[in-house]
Amino acid sequence: MVGGGIHGAGVAQAAAAAGYRTLIVERRDWGAGTSSKSSKLIHGGLRYLQQGHLGLVRESLRERDILLRIAPHLVRLNRFYIPVYRSSRYRPWQLRIGLSLYALLGGLHKAHRFATVPRHRWASLNGLDQRGLQAVFTYWDAQSDDRRLTAAVVASAAQQGADTACPATLTGGVRHSSGYSLKIRQANDIRTVETRVLVNAGGPWANQVAGCVDPQPPKASVELVRGSHLVLAPALAPHCFYLEAPGDGRAIFALPWQDQTLLGTTEVPYSGDPDAVAITAGEEDYLLESLRHYFPEYVDGPARVVERMSGLRVLPASVDRPFQRSREIEIVEAITGRSGYLALYGGKLTGYRATGEKVIAKIAACLGSRRRKADTRTLPLP
Ligand SMILES: Cc1cc2nc3c(=O)[nH]c(=O)nc-3n(C[C@H](O)[C@H](O)[C@H](O)COP(=O)(O)OP(=O)(O)OC[C@H]3O[C@@H](n4cnc5c(N)ncnc54)[C@H](O)[C@@H]3O)c2cc1C
Repeated sequence: MVGGGIHGAGVAQAAAAAGYRTLIVERRDWGAGTSSKSSKLIHGGLRYLQQGHLGLVRESLRERDILLRIAPHLVRLNRFYIPVYRSSRYRPWQLRIGLSLYALLGGLHKAHRFATVPRHRWASLNGLDQRGLQAVFTYWDAQSDDRRLTAAVVASAAQQGADTACPATLTGGVRHSSGYSLKIRQANDIRTVETRVLVNAGGPWANQVAGCVDPQPPKASVELVRGSHLVLAPALAPHCFYLEAPGDGRAIFALPWQDQTLLGTTEVPYSGDPDAVAITAGEEDYLLESLRHYFPEYVDGPARVVERMSGLRVLPASVDRPFQRSREIEIVEAITGRSGYLALYGGKLTGYRATGEKVIAKIAACLGSRRRKADTRTLPLP
């Protein structure tokens, strides 16, 4: 397994739990790539309903419920508020339909119920601008600490018997008749590791990882899209706001994060070196302007930017706007006989466990099953 982001961690955990000998290799730190730059939501993604990705939303809500059970110390529900103004793109009745569908896909569990906030309570919503406000909806979704979640899944993989190497970098690999010989650099040492199945979970670096394997395995046709967040202090609120960016109608979030506020995100096509990704002044203005539209007194008053972070989404290449493209995981495979290569592109933090199990189903078809040690649906995360 190459890549110690959430997907590499999830596949390593699923592989070890299914009884396979497993090694996970990460060149920087667990979760140091995209998996510490996300919005940190464990959610179905209300906005994905707009694009009709019902299957993704249903699976994500199911995964959210599993994570709330197996990792209550890492994943917790929080209240979300969605204000609807006269100028908003969506009318209150449309939100009501969307939230009803979201609740339905979540299995009508108590945590999926939504409500409207009575007008007399609007004044308590942290200075939310009430001019032109028509309705405020509230519902529940979950938040996590993406980097800690990733580290916990790696620790769980190790508890199930996986070997871990970090920092350690895959620098080359050669395909032979029964698998791969991989060169792994760790400190000043280069060792060779033999494996029947190579899983590439390199995230935005996945095509670079594929590029160092001979002969080159197939690559997915993807584009990188930068997503940036600002961290603001002092905190705006202990709950979450789901807002529509007034300029382009995209969804942005203002979320409590480590006693501060996480504001994001943007979507800007990116063609540079994934290691050099960073927020631009234009993105920062876009985020602050969007928030000012709803919370002028906060943005023009106490709010100051204390941290900036950027990550890269891996999205299918397309002429559609990034916002409209699928967030489903794409698994590229090149399996011949009893060995092969699998690469993961895209996907969501929320779905890491389901993704891991999908990859293991492919590995089982190639290598045959082993004696299972644990079930990742019920295995508590350390
Ligand atoms: C701005 C933004 C917001 C998001 N918000 C959410 C959200 O709220 N909820 C949600 O569910 N999803 C969200 N996502 C999606 C989610 O964050 C990603 O799908 C997920 O983190 C990707 O994980 P990964 O393991 O595929 O990639 P990464 O986390 O990038 O991991 C890849 C790893 O591979 C390592 N690597 C690369 N090359 C090598 C090599 N040669 N040898 C060894 N290691 C190597 C890298 O160091 C890196 O750690 C968001 C994404 C972005 C960009």
